Amino acid sequence: MPCACQCVTPCKGLSEMRIHFDQLKESGLSLEFEEQPEFFPVLKEMIESGECVFLAPIKTRLQAVRIAELVEVEGSVETTVRLTCSRCLKRFKTPLHSQFALTYTKAPPAVPQAADGQEIELSAADMGMVHFKGEVINLQDSLQEQLVLAFPLRPLCRETCKGLCPRCGADLNTSPCNCAPPPFNSRFAALKDLKLGRT
Ligand SMILES: [Zn+2]
Ligand SMILES: [Zn+2]
Repeated sequence: MPCACQCVTPCKGLSEMRIHFDQLKESGLSLEFEEQPEFFPVLKEMIESGECVFLAPIKTRLQAVRIAELVEVEGSVETTVRLTCSRCLKRFKTPLHSQFALTYTKAPPAVPQAADGQEIELSAADMGMVHFKGEVINLQDSLQEQLVLAFPLRPLCRETCKGLCPRCGADLNTSPCNCAPPPFNSRFAALKDLKLGRT
């Protein structure tokens, strides 16, 4: 597939993932594109480890504006995945969505002067910016990071999922089992008694 964006390095037809700094006007640029999850190394790992199944491509919408030597990029990434519930171990389908606003900077930031005249070194990252080299902003890393952030830390098929019985393994969403209630409940009850005793 020929590269439509005329990058110096071969870009495998993934021209939408790159913003050309010199072509970016102050009026800005709107982009909308889809990418296969396998294109992002971290997502590819998740697929291969079985942690997650992607049911849709990664859809990105963004707007980029150039302000002097800075490029402001605002947008969103979304997809649909199948995850494993951390309580009942059932697989479930869920949308993922993340909105972001990033500032890319070409030149290293100006070195601010401290009161005593000593120079303070600040990296682009310290200032909440993403540094880019050359004339092309490659969005791949940033988009990947945004999508990883959209994943729930503890996936739940639903907020009220009762999970599996720790003793017999029965799915408590389907029906209660005959085991005694887990110790958490009795401890909670004791706490309640304590509170009542104090008032
Ligand atoms: Zn569940
Ligand atoms: Zn049980």
